[in-house]
Order: sequence, then structure tokens, then C-alpha cells
Amino acid sequence: MIYLDNAATTKPKDIFLDAYDYASKNLFFNSSAIYREGVYSQEMIDEVKQIILKKLGLISSENFIFTNSATIANNLAIQGSYRKSWKEVIISSGEHPSVFNTVEWLQARGVVVHFVPLQKNGQIRYDKLEELCNSNTSFISIMTVNNETGSINDLTKICQIKQRCCPKALLHTDAVQAFCKLDINLSNLTEIDFLTISSHKIGGSKGLGGLYYSKLSNLKPIIFGGGQEKGLNSGTQDIAAIYGLGQLVKSIDISKNLEHVLMLKKSFLELIQKCSYIKCNSDESCSPYILSLTFPFINGETLIHALEEKHILVSTGSACSSKKKGNRILSALGVNDKDIISSIRVSFCADNTLKEVSMAAEEIINTYNNLKQRMNIDE
Ligand code: PLP
Repeated sequence: MIYLDNAATTKPKDIFLDAYDYASKNLFFNSSAIYREGVYSQEMIDEVKQIILKKLGLISSENFIFTNSATIANNLAIQGSYRKSWKEVIISSGEHPSVFNTVEWLQARGVVVHFVPLQKNGQIRYDKLEELCNSNTSFISIMTVNNETGSINDLTKICQIKQRCCPKALLHTDAVQAFCKLDINLSNLTEIDFLTISSHKIGGSKGLGGLYYSKLSNLKPIIFGGGQEKGLNSGTQDIAAIYGLGQLVKSIDISKNLEHVLMLKKSFLELIQKCSYIKCNSDESCSPYILSLTFPFINGETLIHALEEKHILVSTGSACSSKKKGNRILSALGVNDKDIISSIRVSFCADNTLKEVSMAAEEIINTYNNLKQRMNIDE
């Protein structure tokens, strides 16, 4: 099988599985227990937080909590920051449903939500963000990398706009598709108050996310219980998953992986673009991990199932939107409805090989041509 749906989820890495197995057998204690093993388990959780913060360019003593998914972390950042005094909130049109749908909760409380439109390359319109920011802006959420197209938003620019136009607003970035894939240095991005990560997008387990929050953020819990994770995510932590994530994050060489994945994407695109019909919706400025492609005349779903028969797994878009009609993100960057239906997402990981992506590219072109032939579409 050639798995090219790594933006949806990744195959757990061996280093993660070995650490998970070790911790399941040896660190199964409740981190709230007061005997030595419990205390040690909590210390181990704190160590993993330091590993994650270091990867984000921060030195210890910063704030980070584990959550049960990135979806929960995004909900917590928004709902846990909300105060009755909020007037306006800004998010981008490209946000993941865990942000996009959560702002409806704010709208129901009378908060005005503004949506920053996207450029053709999928990045936000920085000029529009600047126009929308004002002294009433309470919260801004702009993702680091878009999960459908791989577009990378310029966090430095976003921080500067926020600092200039609404310094008191809180700034959140959903970095799920960027963490451990692109360099993020929060020590140079001090305007960022919240950053979300997810373990299963980088070779860890599902059901584990995390939220960095700045000292200024004054976050309040949205679920209540035993007070774990500084009272912000009550519930017994999955120590094995956390320990595994720590070993995994330590092992990841972001620039080495980036170089490899960039080579994969370039080789894949070179082959794919031999077929002049195929359009690429992710330009060179996008993350090499994600590619959105359009195959005119053919339904993306039909292509995906035909490829599935050949043991090549790709997707129509994000797992969260794949069962819904249309594609909000591609629409926002100006792709027409016909092309949206004909689009698929190919997403790589550092474990993919050149042989795999070359075979996949050739098979995708053959399958596309066969489907067109069957439908009597002439080139
Ligand atoms: N944010 C982005 C950009 C994503 O791609 C995803 C997953 O697809 C999420 C949030 C949600 O992550 P999780 O599955 O950990 O809830």
C-alpha cells in the first residue's frame, strides 16, 4: 500500500510505538497519585512538555497543557478565553472546522466574527486582516499551515499587524499541520498567545493534542473535573501516549525531513505535470507536505476509489470535510465548483520514499486517463 493521506493522520512511528509499549507496561500509574510512581509519572509528563516547548523555540517554565485532541485544544483556546466583554473576533476563511465551527458559539453570544479572505495561494489577505483589526478586536485565530492546500501563513507578519492594530487582542494559531514539520520559533513570535498541536499528525497516537498558552492569556476551563493539566483539561492523562510523543518529538529532525519531503513533492509534481490537464492548487510557497490537485472532467471521489483499488490512498480533502459537499477552503481561494468536485489531496510524510511517490504519480496519471477514456473524454 502507498499511503499518501498523511495530513489526515500518520502511521505511528516505531520510536513512538516502542516508547508507548514501554510506558504502558512501566508507567501505567495515575499521575495524580501521591506515591512515588505517581509523582514520577507527573514529572515525566512535565518533561515531555519541555521537549515540545523546546521544539517550539521556548525554554522551560512556559505554559503548555495536553488535551485529548487538537480539536479540544482549539475549542479551549477560543471558549476558555471568551469573556462577556468581547465584541469582535477575527478568524481566516481557511480555518479547520474545530475553529470555524467554534466561532458560532461566540456568535450565539453576540460576538461579531470577521472572516479574513484568502489569496489565490491560500495565504490570508494580510491587507484585509489589517483592515479588520481594531480596538474592539478581542481574539484572532489564524492557522499556521492549511490542512487542505498546505498554504503557510506568515506568523511574523500576523504578529506585527496585531501589535500595530490591536495589541490587546489574543492571538491563536492552529499549528497542527506545521508542528515538527516546519520551524516555529515562538521566542520570536511573542504576540502569539495560543498554539495548538496534534500527536497523530506526526507519527504519534490519536486522541492527544496540546495547547501552548502565554502567561497573559488567562485561560479558563471549559470542562470540569479532577483538575488535571492545571485544571484546564481534567481527566486522567494517557501517560504512554504522552511519553511516546516526547520520544518522537525529540527524534524529529525538521530540516532533514523538510529537505526529503520537498524532494518528494518536486519529483511527484514533475511526473504529474506531464499530464497538462492536471492543475495544482498548492503553489511553491506551500508546505511540501500537502498538495491539492484538480483532475478536470473526473469526480475526485471516483478517482480516489479507483486508486484505492490499486492500493494508493489519497483523499478528497480534510477527513473532517470529506463527507460534506463542496470544499470551503478551495472555494475561498477561488477554485470553481466544477474543479472542486474534481480535486484530491495528496499528503506526504518523511517516511515516504521516492519510489513510492513516483509509482503513485504514474498510477494516478494512468488511472485518470483510463477514467477519462471510459467517459469518452478526448484530450
Ligand atoms: N487543525 C488542523 C489544521 C487539522 O488538520 C486537524 C486535523 O485534521 C485538526 C485541527 C484536528 O486535529 P485532531 O484530530 O487532533 O482533533
